[in-house]
Parts: sequence; C-alpha cells; structure tokens
Amino acid sequence: MAPTHVLRCCQRGLAWIPVIFIALVVCWSYYAYVVELCLLTISSTGEKIVYLVVFHLSFVMFVWSYWKTIFTKPANPSKEFCLPKSEKEQYEKEQRPETQQEILKKVATSLPLYTRTGAGAIRYCDRCQVIKPDRCHHCSACDMCVLKMDHHCPWVNNCVGFSNYKFFILFLTYSLVYCLFIAASVLQYFIKFWTSDLPESHAKFHVLFLFFVAAMFCISILSLFTYHLWLVGKNRSTIEAFRAPVFRNGPDKNGFSLGFSKNIAQVFGDEKKYWLLPVFTSQGDGLSFPTRLVTIDPEQPTECLQLGGLDKGAVEVSAEQTSPLSESQNRLLGNDYHSEEDHKETEVLKSDESEAITISIESES
Ligand SMILES: [Zn+2]
Ligand SMILES: [Zn+2]
Repeated sequence: MAPTHVLRCCQRGLAWIPVIFIALVVCWSYYAYVVELCLLTISSTGEKIVYLVVFHLSFVMFVWSYWKTIFTKPANPSKEFCLPKSEKEQYEKEQRPETQQEILKKVATSLPLYTRTGAGAIRYCDRCQVIKPDRCHHCSACDMCVLKMDHHCPWVNNCVGFSNYKFFILFLTYSLVYCLFIAASVLQYFIKFWTSDLPESHAKFHVLFLFFVAAMFCISILSLFTYHLWLVGKNRSTIEAFRAPVFRNGPDKNGFSLGFSKNIAQVFGDEKKYWLLPVFTSQGDGLSFPTRLVTIDPEQPTECLQLGGLDKGAVEVSAEQTSPLSESQNRLLGNDYHSEEDHKETEVLKSDESEAITISIESES
C-alpha cells in the first residue's frame, strides 16, 4: 500500500474517536442509570417504573437520531451538474479563467442556479469537477461536494447537510432531553449521597458522576441547539450564517428565507406527525431551493419567478460582468467546519449593469 493510502486509512480510523467516545459515555450512562440508580438505589417500585420507562423512551430516540445523523450519506450534486464531455475537455484545455467562465455559463443556462461566487462567477468545484448547486459546498474532510452543506461535525464523523440536517437537529433535541431527564431525576439522589443520607456504596460514585456529566452535556448542547433552531427559523445554514449567499444582485443573508413556518417546513416537512421522528421528510431535492426574490431579467424573454424555485426551467443567466474565478481554499470555521469555497470578499454585483429589477416579497408568516 502506498504511504498516502496508509495515512488516509489512519485518518479515517482516528476520525471515529469522538464517536466512540460519545458511544462509551452513553453506554456507561445507561448502566449507571438503569443498574446503579434504578435497580440498586431507588427503593420505591412506582418511581423505578416511571424513571425506567421515560429513560428508555428518551434513550431510544436519542440513539436512533444519532445513528441516522452518523450513517446517512451526504447528498452530492447530480449528473446534470457535471460538465458534458466536450465542454469538460474544452474547460481543461483552457487556461484563461474568463473563457472557462464562458464555458461554465453556457452549461449553467440549463441548471437551476441562483447563487454565484463573491465575484459574480458560476460556482465550480475543481476537485469534484462539478458546477456547485445553490447552497452546495465542498467539504475537505469528506473530499466531496455536499448539498446544502451545514458543517462537518467531528462528533458524528459526517457532514451535516441536506440529507441529514433534520436528523442532526433531532439528535441535539433528544440528547438535550436525555441529559435533562437524567440530571433532573438524579438530583435528589445526588443530594442524598452528598449529605450522607444514603449508605456508602459504589452506586454513589456512578450517581454523582451521572449528575455532573448530564449537567455538563446539557449546558454545552443547549447553546448549539438554540443556535440551530434559530438557523432553521431563518432558513440559513451555518456556512451561510457566516457568509451570506451571493445572488445576482449581491449577497443576501435572507435569500432563502420564505417566512418562519415555511422555513421550518423546508427542514421538517409538511406533516407535523413526522417532525419528531428521525425519518427523512425535508422538502425538495437539495439541488435547488426556492428563494424569496422575484427577478425580472431583461435578458430573459419571460419573467422569471424564483419563488417557485424548484422548477428547473427557470434559470436566470445574464451578460453581467464576471471577474475571474478566484477560489481560495478556506478553512473558515475552525475545527468543526471545513469548507473550501469561493471567498474573495464580496464585490457586490452591480445590478445596474444588467438592469435587473429585484423585488423582495415580505414573508407571509
Ligand atoms: Zn467538490
Ligand atoms: Zn464533511
């Protein structure tokens, strides 16, 4: 095996360490709660049963959503976003970025693309050789383009994106419920052990630690959980919260926001009965997203209504100025986020050049 191959295998193996750590903590918490607390410490049968039932409910939901977040493969751009053979050869031969952009633009006319690079160019991933759909980013940890990429999460050793964002939110929700329930039900026994109302036993060690660990996880998850709920309400990914998506008329951090309830439905689906279950119910295909802008483009024979978003025919292409594509590799968000992306800070597209009129529609809810 080539040394780089071995290195890659080692990296892949090491990446599982945080997941294994969480799994071990969860296994220990199960043993400590069920055996040491419920079976060996609590004497009242009624209390035992209630605790065990609620505990197992939250445990199952937590493990289920964690599992789905880890093992749901990130969604990648479909074949339509690859350059056709002749254009690809032409693109590779071509040295000048301007001409390369012309090739990309020609291909992009048949694609539902509304976002551009900061310089106004078509977003293209040289590594995957694919035109990036809106909200798609290249993850350097996964080495692939991921649809509606949110961030690469080491705690699940997976990319959080279109295919598993709902699972990720539910994972945060149920881990919070799990930790809160443990902390709340353990508290009185924690106090009793602390004040020596209960006899010294090895259950004491487990119960004390159970409370500390649950409380610690609660605090750390809570901030992440509220942040992601806020993002869902605004229909932004973590990457978009750090850097607003750039539309033809410039960056717009609310570009994909359709109003609170529609934003929720984008991630959780229309049917409320599935909201709390880790089954896939997110709307759309991850390749195109409705935007809140209505653009009337003089270059287009008909008005192009983006609000319908998902119809692939509605594509806006214009003869606006495009600067050379400048893709700087950018590990912008530290440990948890790896996204290589167009990041020459944002030269706002001059809308008067293409004389596009843009009307913002106020969200209805
Ligand atoms: Zn890529
Ligand atoms: Zn990733």
